[in-house]
Amino acid sequence: MSTAVYPTKLEREGERHLVITWSDGERRRYSLRELRDSCPCATCREKRNAPPPSPLMLPILTDAQIQPLAIAGMKPVGNYAYAIAFSDGHDTGIFTLDFLRELGQSVASPT
Ligand SMILES: [Zn+2]
Repeated sequence: MSTAVYPTKLEREGERHLVITWSDGERRRYSLRELRDSCPCATCREKRNAPPPSPLMLPILTDAQIQPLAIAGMKPVGNYAYAIAFSDGHDTGIFTLDFLRELGQSVASPT
């Protein structure tokens, strides 16, 4: 069953990382950038699949995008996913628990 494990604890680690403790004892550390770049919403998927922009074109960044990335909020969606709102104003990504288990890196539990 894919919904057998679920996060029991969400912790911020420094400015750029999130640590999730799972119900089976697994702890995983996620960089906020990784989460943002893995955003599974349709808009971001489309962007990732688009051909790279011309190297002569500079992206125009908004003020929010220039700020260091942070998580503005995480909200459970049913019992299978989290909606993650990022500080750059993007909040349409629904991260399923299965997907979150694949991202990040396993870290040792504190003893
Ligand atoms: Zn997205």
